[in-house]
Amino acid sequence: MIHQKNSIRFNCTGCGQCCLGHPDEHFIELTDEEAEKIRIYLGMDKRAFKRSYLVRDKYIGAGLKINSHGRCELLDEDNRCTIYPVRPRQCITYPYWPELLESRAVWDAEAGRCEGINQGGVIATDYIEKQLALYKP
Ligand code: SF4
Ligand code: SF4
Repeated sequence: MIHQKNSIRFNCTGCGQCCLGHPDEHFIELTDEEAEKIRIYLGMDKRAFKRSYLVRDKYIGAGLKINSHGRCELLDEDNRCTIYPVRPRQCITYPYWPELLESRAVWDAEAGRCEGINQGGVIATDYIEKQLALYKP
């Protein structure tokens, strides 16, 4: 992966664009444990939480819904995450995803979505490795 040989720079501006979905994304990956933490944080009963926020995928299991406008349902009007302390690992680890670090071209292309990519200081390789380890469910 590119961070092993190249400097990776990143500085999150908090713009919220990463919560707005991709044309080819339909949900945010979620373990059952993460789903339960979010449900408790929101103080919702299981049925209402499932109906409002969850989708089921035959390969990954539970996922957080992205609405028909491509927005995560848990993003507020100011583009802030309403469950930030319990957001799932897919959100915590962005943009240090294996598929984004596979080549410089892919990483640079993602900068079109995320204005923090290629900005700010160089991120330590150890830190990126930790995020990659966390990314795996
Ligand atoms: S798109 Fe990038 S810069 Fe904007 S909030 Fe997400 S991670 Fe931060
Ligand atoms: S859970 Fe929060 S951080 Fe993750 S996509 Fe939704 S609003 Fe963004």
